[in-house]
Amino acid sequence: MAGAGAAIALGGGLSWLGYEGWAFALYALAITFTIPGPARNARRSVQRRVLDIHVLMVIAVAGALILGEWLEAATVIWLFSVSEWLESRTIASARRAIRDLMTMAPSEALVRRAGTVITVPVAQLVLGDIVLVRPGEKVPVDAIVVSGESALNQAPVTGESLPIKKVAGDNVFAGSINGNGSLDVRVTRLAQDSTIARIVHMVEQAQAQRAPTQTLVETFARRYTPAVVALAVLIAVVPPVIGSVEALSLAGGEWGTWAYRALVLLVVSCPCALVISTPVTVVSALTVAARAGVLIKGGASLERLAAVRCVAFDKTGTLTDGRVAVTDVLGVNCASAEDVLSVAAALEARSEHPIGRAIVDRARDAGLDVTAGERFRALPGLGAEALVAASMAVIGSHRFFESRQLCTDAVHARMAEIEAGGSTPVFIGRDGAALGVIGLADQPRAGSTSVVQSLRDAGVEHVVLLTGDTRRSAETIRKASGVDEVYADLMPADKVTLVQMLQREHGTVAMVGDGINDAPALATADVGIAMGAAGTDVALETADVALMSDDLSKLPFAVRLGRATVQTIRVNVAIALGLKLAFVALAALGLATLWMAVLADTGASLLVVANGLRGTGLLSRLVTSTRQ
Ligand code: ADP
Ligand code: MG
Repeated sequence: MAGAGAAIALGGGLSWLGYEGWAFALYALAITFTIPGPARNARRSVQRRVLDIHVLMVIAVAGALILGEWLEAATVIWLFSVSEWLESRTIASARRAIRDLMTMAPSEALVRRAGTVITVPVAQLVLGDIVLVRPGEKVPVDAIVVSGESALNQAPVTGESLPIKKVAGDNVFAGSINGNGSLDVRVTRLAQDSTIARIVHMVEQAQAQRAPTQTLVETFARRYTPAVVALAVLIAVVPPVIGSVEALSLAGGEWGTWAYRALVLLVVSCPCALVISTPVTVVSALTVAARAGVLIKGGASLERLAAVRCVAFDKTGTLTDGRVAVTDVLGVNCASAEDVLSVAAALEARSEHPIGRAIVDRARDAGLDVTAGERFRALPGLGAEALVAASMAVIGSHRFFESRQLCTDAVHARMAEIEAGGSTPVFIGRDGAALGVIGLADQPRAGSTSVVQSLRDAGVEHVVLLTGDTRRSAETIRKASGVDEVYADLMPADKVTLVQMLQREHGTVAMVGDGINDAPALATADVGIAMGAAGTDVALETADVALMSDDLSKLPFAVRLGRATVQTIRVNVAIALGLKLAFVALAALGLATLWMAVLADTGASLLVVANGLRGTGLLSRLVTSTRQ
């Protein structure tokens, strides 16, 4: 390409000095070297019966040659090749930016086998293998810690850069960077199923999906190109015919001029910049999001995110810490605290609910032996039940306890005690009688106020809290986080109804939840956002947007990214259309030359690609990553 460019420049110089013969030879040389690629693509397009830029370029070059404009022909095809090359390189690196995440996980692992430690390619690891992760190394597979203690940087997976402490029983993700401790971990997922591999796969799928704007633009382009081609034919034919009738002569120059203008128009007619303006922006936005630990499932979700007017939070695990803690364990009817805790823990052993996990953790910490009950059944929004030591045990909210007619004055006295201390009570019963009340602290998350504020700054009008918990604890969270409204005592179905009501009142609604007891509401909202998705598979698969970490500040980031993306797309469409319209006018007036038209076309394409990368913040990332 550099050689062809030099040949054209040299040819121009020689022609200026009067050596026309040599100049023509050099132009011919430049064309011979640059035309094969576009010509091959043009043939393929013609076979598929589409009129694309390659076809138009070949026509333009042929036309210019026929009209004797050799310099023009050579410049046109050279400019085109250069811009094609630049464009494909940029887009390829934008796509590759997501693949890079995969290379975060090492390709080999140290495995303990038969008393020694051997190095094995990760692809050969099997479930249950014990892998040794030394200080400072990257974790090669998704696994569970069996021994050792260390703080891990999980940024490649969750986007959060603060190290997270891991001890026996905690999950670790492939690609995380180990801190100062040494860990023995047991493989829980094969390398190809690791969380990071699935993230990359999902982002690539999302990138392949069409955003609504893209579909719109492409529909427009399908009509616009033939229209301009028709206009070009008219310009080539009509004015000379009229001119020749008027002058009653066939002045050859007339035909040449108008044919040239028509060629210019043909080049201008290609909607390249318009067609790529949207996908390039969406692809890079999805990549930037994924690298920050926010998984967005395609351009459509991104555009809806940009339109969000109202955000509804499910309480537990979103606006609150996610780490519920047991504060009190009180027995009624002579039951001991230990009794209450061990029954509750056995019941909850199979529960996914944060309350259940808090109770089980507390029982283990207290040194109780937790044997899971049988026939566990979660009662969404109410509580749970299971068979514990041959007795039917239940746990749940006050409303649930009332509905089972288990409440007594003694129970209410315990409840008042717990609420006075600022905790939320859950009620435990066995064999049709109350057993005790456990108090739980579901602390407002540090920073929730600033998150709510940033959401407002990003243009969200209304922020609400939906919870199955009591009004009292909901109010505490409202005061601490500054949300506009709370709706308490909700069953999963009530959350759906409320989301629908918010949609009627405010338009586009995003619902943020952890997927437990709020999945129907997440599905109803325009944008379902799952928190802490690195943990749960269901949330990762079903949500429109998944925040891989527990870091709530990723939420306003996602909304801002959505808005920036839509804004960038608009600017891109305006650039592409504006330049085209200007050139159509210039071409019709005969003020544009062929090489100017090509420069405008390729320039516009490069401009929208660069703007797409810039608008979403990928450009600066690509630049810094190449510098490193
Ligand atoms: P949230 O809307 O805050 O996520 P849920 O809808 O999950 O709350 O649950 C509503 C209420 O039901 C809880 O506050 C609790 O009182 C009770 N509950 C639900 N599941 C459980 C469980 N597994 N153990 C104890 N209580 C539960
Ligand atoms: Mg919940």
